[in-house]
Amino acid sequence: MARPDQRLAANVPGAFYVDGSCIDCGTCWQFDPAHFAPTGSTSHVWAQPEDDAATRQALLALQACPVAAIGAPKQLLAQTPADGFPALVTALPQGEVHYCGWASRKSFGASSWLITRRRADGRPDNVLIDSPRWSAALARRIEAQGGVSRILLSHRDDVADHSAWADRFGAGRWIHTADADAAPEAEHRIEGTERQQLDDDLLVVPVPGHTAGSVALLFAGTVLFSGDHLWWGVDPAGLVASRRHCWWNWQEQLRSVERLRDLDVRWLLPGHGRWHSFVKGEWELELEKLLRHLHR
Ligand code: SF4
Repeated sequence: MARPDQRLAANVPGAFYVDGSCIDCGTCWQFDPAHFAPTGSTSHVWAQPEDDAATRQALLALQACPVAAIGAPKQLLAQTPADGFPALVTALPQGEVHYCGWASRKSFGASSWLITRRRADGRPDNVLIDSPRWSAALARRIEAQGGVSRILLSHRDDVADHSAWADRFGAGRWIHTADADAAPEAEHRIEGTERQQLDDDLLVVPVPGHTAGSVALLFAGTVLFSGDHLWWGVDPAGLVASRRHCWWNWQEQLRSVERLRDLDVRWLLPGHGRWHSFVKGEWELELEKLLRHLHR
């Protein structure tokens, strides 16, 4: 629970604040950049919400925070929406993509995602990408959308509460062999660097580098869940692959970035960092820009 006496000086005056327990995971400003922003070592409230819709967004950022470092008065907390997460990101003919919120300290606040889709016979066949922190409230919301059939774990850092989610929904889990010691209970293994079709519209793309067993998932040919391999940066704007945050092999990570040239990504949904949507042709340009920068 955030404490008013620990309120950081960087916050603008008003109801919402970030306190000193912030771990600088980025969840709040990625989800609600209209009110939260990084300071360099923590987050802070840079603008207070001014109407009901903006207050709802700030309350959801508060709910998503993995360490309860965001505070607000009790009367506002009582208005926290029960139906905020999963939050719709985009709707495609093949299914909908949602942000799960409820970030976990165990994954340093990594984003997790839910694809809601149906089989030909109409039964739900939903996919969870990485794990939110366990929440019975979120589980009820996901159950109402058809539960979870499969869980794709992008890499060792973001497995968080995968067992609780798998148990709750009887979901099968996939993880790359090289990172499987982080989730030994996972029922399925991804091997090597060859792409693997999980279903007609689900393609696993191994991207070793950040960790030896990092994988991305391409949904419907256009939505790339990239784990910590790649994300969108805002200052300057553009794709980011981070040598500083590469835990295994930077040269391998560069090769993994190069192997994404043939994709036509329209949504990039990472574990950490900003999400981004691309217009047609923009992915190719941005990826080449990134590669030129990384090879300089
Ligand atoms: S979500 Fe919480 S821990 Fe993460 S940056 Fe925001 S205030 Fe800090």
